[in-house]
Amino acid sequence: MRGASVLDKAGRALTVKEPSGSGNVVVYWMQGAFRVSHNPSLEYAVEAANRSGRPLIVLAVLDLGYPEANARSFKFFLEGLVDVREGLARRGIALHLRKGKFEKILAEYAAEAYTLVSDAAYLPAMRGIRERVYRSFESGIVEVEPNVLVPVKAASGRMEYGAYTLRPKITRLAPIYEGDFATREYRGERLDDELDFDPSDHARILKGQVEDVPPCGTPGGSGNASRLLGNFLERKYPTFAARRGDPAAQAESDLSPYLHFGHISPAQILEGARRAGPPNENYRAIFEQLIVRRELAHNFTLYAKSLSSPFDFIPGWAAESLKAHEGDRREYVYSLGELEGARTHDKYWNAAQYELLTKGKIHNYMRMYWGKKIIEWSEGVEEAYHAMVYLNNKYALDGRDPNSYAGIGWCFGLHDRPFRERGIFGKVRYMSEGGLTRKFDMEAYIKRAYSAVVPE
Ligand SMILES: Cc1cc2nc3c(=O)[nH]c(=O)nc-3n(C[C@H](O)[C@H](O)[C@H](O)COP(=O)(O)OP(=O)(O)OC[C@H]3O[C@@H](n4cnc5c(N)ncnc54)[C@H](O)[C@@H]3O)c2cc1C
Repeated sequence: MRGASVLDKAGRALTVKEPSGSGNVVVYWMQGAFRVSHNPSLEYAVEAANRSGRPLIVLAVLDLGYPEANARSFKFFLEGLVDVREGLARRGIALHLRKGKFEKILAEYAAEAYTLVSDAAYLPAMRGIRERVYRSFESGIVEVEPNVLVPVKAASGRMEYGAYTLRPKITRLAPIYEGDFATREYRGERLDDELDFDPSDHARILKGQVEDVPPCGTPGGSGNASRLLGNFLERKYPTFAARRGDPAAQAESDLSPYLHFGHISPAQILEGARRAGPPNENYRAIFEQLIVRRELAHNFTLYAKSLSSPFDFIPGWAAESLKAHEGDRREYVYSLGELEGARTHDKYWNAAQYELLTKGKIHNYMRMYWGKKIIEWSEGVEEAYHAMVYLNNKYALDGRDPNSYAGIGWCFGLHDRPFRERGIFGKVRYMSEGGLTRKFDMEAYIKRAYSAVVPE
């Protein structure tokens, strides 16, 4: 199926199958970008509907078998759907909220769809679901990339070595793509909504149905994302470059869960930063994280051979050197249960793990430390990798994301350079407790980690 696919000139929309002319509706399967503004997939579907003279249906499916999802992530997801419902009603577009297996539900739309528009996916599990869903459709499938500013293949045709190789390409291309996020007017007929469930009723929908990971205080949805963005721009952005790396400062945006669920787009955040004043060091810092680093992660997950083991994707120098040190003695080895329960000898690490358990997110600097220590305290590289993926994807609201695998991979040397050789890590960068206490007020971090559980 892939062989016949055609990418449009801009690189944003991939036609997997041309429409045959049959079918009486355009269906946008909203699967990765749960928002009604700054959403290139939705706008593509609006244009397809206007052009073809067919009405548009937006379809969102609640599949309780979604890989690695649980009560925490489903609640956040359902809160996002409440805003989608309101936003689509304002734009005069019908919403179908269906519950069941993706493949089964989508197959019900195959006969009547003139075109199926879907959100591009980067992780293997989600790409697999797309492939299976597409089998039911004889014609008319277009995949659009709604969640990156520069479409991944337009930015680069290969797996990049690091931020330094992607940065010049993406910086040059970014201005060209901002127009893709503009809203188009829907001129078609307003069909009726079809709702299998009320997304605001998440407690009832989820009770006893999915793994019970306690929800955190952070509420999902585009409205909450926009409010958090406004607060970030007013209070944190003016010192973002200087303070975002400090775990005690509370200076990061906390927008990653909303980016992960597509409740907000990078374009909207960047637009806000630009409106806050002429480009300065804070603009450069947000561009570096939100566009360069985040889209490097998408580049990595799309082109990586596999994400099953770090040895499938880390650079050769890192793989050789980690293997050479696999037999090194570990001073501490913790079981997955001890790590999960934040029961190690290291109070800073425990605080980071506590943040993950309660807030669903760890401060960026502490997330690096968290990962590095799991390598130091595990029997071997594979055990460390699987522990990190398990904990991150189970508890982090922004988990199961290209950034999850790129961030975890970075702990094993991905996108990094060699350092002086040492035990366990070989030439892979090491992080020490001393480094934390020298640079930051770590007692203030601990206080913050154990108290503030809702982002401000
Ligand atoms: C072991 C490990 C695991 C990680 N797991 C995840 C994950 O599951 N999900 C996730 O979104 N990020 C992950 N990261 C990357 C990073 O820590 C988070 O993106 C960041 O902390 C999110 O917080 P924020 O939104 O407040 O970031 P801010 O500092 O406010 O940055 C704004 C946005 O820029 C992007 N960004 C920031 N730092 C990075 C980075 N280093 N790499 C890529 N993009 C970045 C994020 O989209 C973020 O929301 C991980 C990093 C490590 C070391």
